[in-house]
Amino acid sequence: MTTADFPIVAPAAPRLFSQHTTARVGGPAGDWIVAENEHDALDVLQAHPLPADSVREAGEDTLLVLGGGSNLLVADAGFGGTVLQLAFSGISAEPVETEAVEITVAAGHDWDAVVAWTVERGLTGLEALSGIPGAAGATPVQNVGAYGAEVSQTLVDARVWDRAEEELVVLSAEQMQFGYRDSVLKRTTVAGSPRYVVLSVRFRLTHRAGEALSAPVRYAELARTLGLDPEAPEDQRRAPLQKVRNAVLQLRAGKGMVLDEQDHDTWSTGSFFTNPIVPASAAAQLPPQAPQFPAGTDDDGEPLVKLSAAWLIDRAGCGRGFGADLVDGRASLSTKHTLAVTNRGDARTEDLLTVARAARDRVRQTFGITLHPEPVLIGCSL
Ligand SMILES: Cc1cc2nc3c(=O)[nH]c(=O)nc-3n(C[C@H](O)[C@H](O)[C@H](O)COP(=O)(O)OP(=O)(O)OC[C@H]3O[C@@H](n4cnc5c(N)ncnc54)[C@H](O)[C@@H]3O)c2cc1C
Repeated sequence: MTTADFPIVAPAAPRLFSQHTTARVGGPAGDWIVAENEHDALDVLQAHPLPADSVREAGEDTLLVLGGGSNLLVADAGFGGTVLQLAFSGISAEPVETEAVEITVAAGHDWDAVVAWTVERGLTGLEALSGIPGAAGATPVQNVGAYGAEVSQTLVDARVWDRAEEELVVLSAEQMQFGYRDSVLKRTTVAGSPRYVVLSVRFRLTHRAGEALSAPVRYAELARTLGLDPEAPEDQRRAPLQKVRNAVLQLRAGKGMVLDEQDHDTWSTGSFFTNPIVPASAAAQLPPQAPQFPAGTDDDGEPLVKLSAAWLIDRAGCGRGFGADLVDGRASLSTKHTLAVTNRGDARTEDLLTVARAARDRVRQTFGITLHPEPVLIGCSL
């Protein structure tokens, strides 16, 4: 008998999260299924009903749903279960009223390609959300937002697979209970284990005859870049769609917030921390120059205030590039923006977490405010 009778076949190398996430860190997965269509995704989902709460809380659900991997940090040891990567794409549009068009987008469609598609067709509503990495299906999960816009402003509903009831349902925007970087989709995800898996999303956009103008620009820095007066009435804060998209992309690139393989400042999960929302009484203890924005009231009626995590990090002594010395230069805060924790080329997940922990601890020591991570952490914690 020769080896020709029993050819030696090397086992397929496991897929690594470092090759499928924008921070480019994270170990192997047990099994990796790329669903090229909704039917294949549903087969996998039907085989993975929602486990008991205790299993999910222990981080032992065997299913992880992946879009573009831009808001995900997976442990260096990896994830032993099945990764379901939603890779199906497609956009369809339907006029619904004289000046309104609804677009339906498959979960795996690249988000920025969706925005570009709408801008090219003169559809108003998503332009300020240009340049955000990831897939369309993930956008409602944390109510993706930037430059004064959030998907909740235009999202009509999402078709989702409910792993608890094992059925397809349509969740309206109202049912998704959107908040700042939050939704019912996120609140029902436990240790990375989602109850609802988004298969497609529907947005209602505006389409007017003549030159297509943006929605009113709500972000002062963007307004100034476009030559608009940030204090002007809403209707005077509109600009041509493509011009708004270009300005957003330019502003984002200056902060390392547009993916660029050559630029390590973009090897990140974007903002590592959410902007803390605290009672006004706690915000009053901060230095007067700390940026503060009204954020509604709590259940007892006390006013809430949104703070700038980037400002707190910076003023706690963690400037741009902070933390490199803690991990032999493998990771640091971005050299363009203090809110991103970046991989400088050969970082591991633990390096990014070391830098993030140091920044969080300094903010807590200096201001008594606790920062919380924005990305989903799998098999690791801050
Ligand atoms: C450079 C950079 C800039 C960024 N800028 C912004 C920004 O301006 N604003 C902002 O809000 N975010 C920003 N982000 C974060 C990120 O891009 C968004 O949160 C994005 O929507 C994540 O999409 P994704 O497909 O990559 O999700 P993934 O990272 O693949 O997944 C994130 C989480 O969502 C879950 N998930 C993914 N797809 C689905 C689905 N179809 N159904 C149910 N659950 C799902 C995953 O299980 C996981 O828990 C930025 C990230 C980077 C790297």
